Amino acid sequence: DKTSAKGFGARSLRGNGEQITTWTYFRRIVDLAMDFWPTLVAALVCLVIMQSLQILAPKLQGSIFDGIIAYLQNPGVGKDRFQDAMATYVTIMVLQGAFSGLKSLAQELVQRRMACAVRLKLFASVIRMDIAFFDTMHTGQLTSRMTNDASQMTQPLNTLLNDLLANVLLLVGGMFMAFRTSWKLSILALTIVPPITYSYRVYAKWARRVTRSIYCAYGEANSTATDAISNIRTVRGFSTEAFESNKYSDSINTALGHGVKNAYVGASVTAFSTYLNLGTAVLILWYGGQLVCDSEGKIMSIGSLITFQLYWNMMNNAFISLGNVFNDLIRSSSAAERVLSLIDARPDVNPDEGEVLVRETVKGHLKLRGIQFRYRSRPDSIVLKGIDMEMPPGTTTALVGKSGGGKSTLVHLLMRFYEPTAGEIILDGKDTKLLSSKSVRQCCGFVAQDTQLFSCSIEENLSYGLGRDHSKEEVIEACKAANAHEFILEMEEGYETRVGEKGIMLSGGQKQRLAVARCFLRKPRMLFLDEATSALDAENEAIVQGALESLLLELNSTVVLIAHRLSTVINATQICVIHKGLIVERGTHDELVAKGGVYAQLVSRQLSRDASAVIGA
Ligand code: ADP
Repeated sequence: DKTSAKGFGARSLRGNGEQITTWTYFRRIVDLAMDFWPTLVAALVCLVIMQSLQILAPKLQGSIFDGIIAYLQNPGVGKDRFQDAMATYVTIMVLQGAFSGLKSLAQELVQRRMACAVRLKLFASVIRMDIAFFDTMHTGQLTSRMTNDASQMTQPLNTLLNDLLANVLLLVGGMFMAFRTSWKLSILALTIVPPITYSYRVYAKWARRVTRSIYCAYGEANSTATDAISNIRTVRGFSTEAFESNKYSDSINTALGHGVKNAYVGASVTAFSTYLNLGTAVLILWYGGQLVCDSEGKIMSIGSLITFQLYWNMMNNAFISLGNVFNDLIRSSSAAERVLSLIDARPDVNPDEGEVLVRETVKGHLKLRGIQFRYRSRPDSIVLKGIDMEMPPGTTTALVGKSGGGKSTLVHLLMRFYEPTAGEIILDGKDTKLLSSKSVRQCCGFVAQDTQLFSCSIEENLSYGLGRDHSKEEVIEACKAANAHEFILEMEEGYETRVGEKGIMLSGGQKQRLAVARCFLRKPRMLFLDEATSALDAENEAIVQGALESLLLELNSTVVLIAHRLSTVINATQICVIHKGLIVERGTHDELVAKGGVYAQLVSRQLSRDASAVIGA
């Protein structure tokens, strides 16, 4: 299916294999608009009334002229006739203004509500997408879809109401009135439609061919230029500058030749159709004038002739506008395509699908069996190549190893940010694929190297996603335990201080302590930590370290930590050395040091460098 090829990283869009065409999108936009059908119907009714009044206008203008002529011939009778026609005309104009205002109000309301609904749907769809989706999509692209494309895609509604429907009404109504005014003149005028349409069709077909030849010639010119410039040393070496210039100029001149031919033919077609059009206007006046004179105004009055001329112009303009409608629709449908394909996108894993875990009963016994993984954005490189691990409840597993080995990726898989390409993650004896990923995540805590904060108060940040009522005291307790209480109180507004993007910027260490406090509040059964490395200064490091240690003691949960510091690693229940996507060594600190392998080398290298040794990264 066409849209899945766009690389949104989302599953194919319309499961039923329906062909996605401009019309499909157009239909979907109309479907969206139908949610606001009462306002839409109001807009349509106003449009029909407005256009009907406009169709009546030439008839009344003709009557006004006839009134003037009658007034000149017989002021007694003519005056009333003139005044009556004027009064009706003014009434109609006033009504037309009112209905056009009402129509544009209703239309604007539908459009704005529709854009709003589209944005809501879009955000709801995007926020549920797999993390892999965000690896390939830029934030800028997404927000632009939410703002620009969402309003742009309501444009077809505009085109439909203002251009298509309005002009079809004018064309049909104008034709009907023109026939009523004079069928003879109407038939005469309509004789130009077939030759004009035919000449345009022939020209369009020919022009497409010429345009293709022009593109082709420019393509050749470009490839000559690219070739010559990228091989400039060869060109210079063989002194073929003049040869290359001639080759380039041949292609450019061919393109120009086609372009000039196109300009001549285009101009002739324009002149031909203009002559036909003007000729028809002359014919209408000449033949119409004869009808008026021969019948002394009985078959046709001067007013009727003017009326007919006005209807003719009305149809002409409507016809030209209709020609542009299809181009407009196609243009705005590309915005619709971008938006709708995102709205339709479904994540690979629906967070609500699967067995729901009851938090209180989760023990936190984790097992990994043959875990393999590759990122969708880099399908050629296998990041994890078969990981087997067991993490019994309450134990601490330290992951160490050189950067790029796959430690963070493994933690992301445990958080279920991504699905393993092969293998199983088993929690308390159950394959996590069968569990609701939302409920799994609710049992997990995560302290990343870089803690993300929202632009709201510290307290709101701490209770974010807690999903239960909490007291202020509870938050303060958590912050005290996480060594965060003091620095929060030092700020002017304490727990109400706005942080994050639009608030006060916190240091790396402060942010990590907030992340630890979040964990104290959530009391997760499984805790994943990414120890900070060089981001923290020594003092901060000790404070964060202290906070983490008390967290581990308090929670007694299953901990997997990406360790960079020897002190953390020494106390771990087991240490896994990860290298190029594989566990190359595992055991306790003492076992691994005794073994004298990769881990022992890492330790001795770091110890010799620094007493507060940093391992791996
Ligand atoms: P570590 O935590 O051991 O430093 P990572 O798990 O961060 O290792 O990275 C393992 C490999 O996966 C690296 O080659 C890295 O470039 C790649 N990688 C990490 N994140 C992504 C991502 N979002 N998309 C594509 N490749 C990634």
